Amino acid sequence: MRLTQYFTSTLREAPADAEIISHILMVRAGMIKKLAAGIYSYLPMGLRTIKKIENIVRECMNDAGAVELLMPSVQPAEIWQESGRWQQYGKELLRIKDRHDRDFCYGPTHEEVITDIVRSVVKSYKQLPVNMYQIQTKFRDEVRPRFGLMRGREFIMKDAYSFDADDEGANVSYEKMRAAYCRIFERCGLSYKMVEADSGSIGGSYSHEFMVLAQTGEDAVISCDRCDYAANLEKAVALKPAKAPCIPSGDSDTCPKCGGIYEIARGIEVGHIFKLGTKYSEAMNARYLDKNGKQQTIVMGCYGIGVGRIAAACVEQNFDESGICWPVPIAPFEVAVVPLNSNEPDVVEMAENIYSDLIKAGIDAVIDDRNDRAGSKLADADLIGYPIRINVGKNNIKNSLVELVIRSSGEAELYTREDAINRAV
Ligand code: ATP
Ligand code: MG
Ligand code: MG
Ligand code: MG
Repeated sequence: MRLTQYFTSTLREAPADAEIISHILMVRAGMIKKLAAGIYSYLPMGLRTIKKIENIVRECMNDAGAVELLMPSVQPAEIWQESGRWQQYGKELLRIKDRHDRDFCYGPTHEEVITDIVRSVVKSYKQLPVNMYQIQTKFRDEVRPRFGLMRGREFIMKDAYSFDADDEGANVSYEKMRAAYCRIFERCGLSYKMVEADSGSIGGSYSHEFMVLAQTGEDAVISCDRCDYAANLEKAVALKPAKAPCIPSGDSDTCPKCGGIYEIARGIEVGHIFKLGTKYSEAMNARYLDKNGKQQTIVMGCYGIGVGRIAAACVEQNFDESGICWPVPIAPFEVAVVPLNSNEPDVVEMAENIYSDLIKAGIDAVIDDRNDRAGSKLADADLIGYPIRINVGKNNIKNSLVELVIRSSGEAELYTREDAINRAV
């Protein structure tokens, strides 16, 4: 990609409403732009990161045996009345009326729609298990949308739903999703922790959250120093304290499992998996005939990941005073080639050659071919956070050398054209 043919919009100033670093940097880097509270456009640079996250999610879900589909974002009230959530959900559910005065909502989640699909198709145990997912735009009328993509009202979620013949099967499906989630967050370059969680308004028997530990996280996460218990604090306080003797300590508290001391850290919930049991299948009559021709209720699970929230959480973990330091797998571009002196033909030629070498090698490269000052190109590159930058300048080129800089460490070394390519691929 050539920046002269692209749409870039970096800002020197932080937006007035941005409180946390990921929000500030993603707006300043021209990745997102606010349209209304909690409603953002993904600008071209930001969309590249979103699409890379989506692809990682998609690959890992497919590997785990889940099948992609796409459901409507606008849903009729009837199915929500059937599940009982039309009354329960509260104001986060954006309710709308069509021209015939019929009630609809903009989907905050899709248990009702998927259960309606599955109940109409699945009749026999032979059609189970099945796990289907979508990557789709959700709307939740959050009371306090803030922090950019972290807590939007309109946001992209990957949501998956598993349907099994019995509890044992549902546990196997849950375990597959747990493992897939670990792979997804690892591949995105996040450092995360899986914790026990509350099931909230989705309901169900048990659930786990995937937390990215960061100071700006809205959740409190506890982890015990004695056993391996880790939980969302709201879940841990709901449990009875353990019988084991309490060990008094400053500001930590006692583990509900073993009585050891737990530490509290802040976490960002990037994923959440639920064992739903028969909450929806019972209410919506999703049943099948077992081997003996007896009618049984389908056992469900549901599994969500915030795609935009992953991007924001990743920035919270990877930045410095100059900007974002994207991990390679979800960087908008992997390598940026920066001709520092746009008026020097040798410099431009070398930069163009390196750029085309990278493209030929299958690298997701960008060249900053704008006729700008070196300083402003470098500031933009640091702000946007390309993992590798190749600076082509008039002094080094006299010795046929270019400078390769690793964004995260700042490590810079001189290379020949060939060695720079080898280092970058
Ligand atoms: P939170 O506790 O942050 O409100 P939630 O528990 O309501 O999230 P879930 O219903 O578990 O969210 O949805 C699955 C995933 O969708 C979450 O783990 C999160 O990554 C993402 N998500 C939820 N709400 C938002 C939002 N308002 N903006 C961006 N992503 C969100
Ligand atoms: Mg919520
Ligand atoms: Mg939550
Ligand atoms: Mg949740």
